[in-house]
Amino acid sequence: MAWRFALVIDPAAPDDPHTDLAASLRVIDPAAPALVVGELSAQRGDGVFESLGVVDGHVQGVEPHLARLARSAELCDLPAPHLAQWRAAITRVAAEAGPGESVMKLLYSRGVEGGATPTAWVTLATAPDNVRARRDGVRIVTLDRGYALDVPARAPWLLLGAKTLSYAVNMAAIREAQRRGADDAVFVSSDGFVLEAPTASVLLRFGDRFVTPAPHAGILHGTTQQSVFAHLARRGFETGYETVPVVDLGRADAAWLLSSVRLAAPVAAIDGDDLAIDHALTDDLNAYLLSPRD
Ligand code: PLP
Repeated sequence: MAWRFALVIDPAAPDDPHTDLAASLRVIDPAAPALVVGELSAQRGDGVFESLGVVDGHVQGVEPHLARLARSAELCDLPAPHLAQWRAAITRVAAEAGPGESVMKLLYSRGVEGGATPTAWVTLATAPDNVRARRDGVRIVTLDRGYALDVPARAPWLLLGAKTLSYAVNMAAIREAQRRGADDAVFVSSDGFVLEAPTASVLLRFGDRFVTPAPHAGILHGTTQQSVFAHLARRGFETGYETVPVVDLGRADAAWLLSSVRLAAPVAAIDGDDLAIDHALTDDLNAYLLSPRD
């Protein structure tokens, strides 16, 4: 990843209208060390984050991402993020983006061990080239996440549904998928329901009905999926959140992995069985996702 810009947000800046928000942002060298060794994001993965797509300088879905950041922070007992300050930081970083696709990351950690304040910073990098994934699709395998569908409600301390910095499991799942000859994984619950991919939501098409697994099942409520549902509804399609049995994956007419940077990647195969790619609809979804969106 080519990091191009970064800034640190002063967490001690008061959350009131008189705060000089611009003065509470400190630009740092994205290539130089910036975190201290006691930082809990590095020590324990103890923090939350968001990845936002930036297209030609426009940041996509700022408010849905900030809402999810606040929700993740709440689930992790972190102080509520000062949203006006985060908006100012996003605007400042976006001004550096220039043409093409970039990735902006918002990072919010518990701070330095023994310290009084969280650590907050924002980075900007060139987006990976996702043209092939959007055109040719991704081959996925299903992987057991090891939890039943009711675990998020029974064990909220597992933080399922928070976008925490602890993504080692998600990365391990992608490596396992690659060992099995696929590109990506889709997690399924131990009692046989579709959940999400390690870095994306799952969208399935059954005729003119589009379905995604309900977010209360301990998965992230994808901002891209929400945006796609609004777009599909405008086009007259039916959309819905459902509890999706794994067998329905094989019954779908088409499927996609949706996320803020890769956007709509059509699923080309599930557990070794080819799935037809709906190229026209995929192109329509990606054209929409690349257009400026709130
Ligand atoms: N589910 C997981 C586990 C993710 O990590 C992501 C994005 O990174 C998503 C879903 C999709 O979320 P969004 O569309 O907001 O990027």
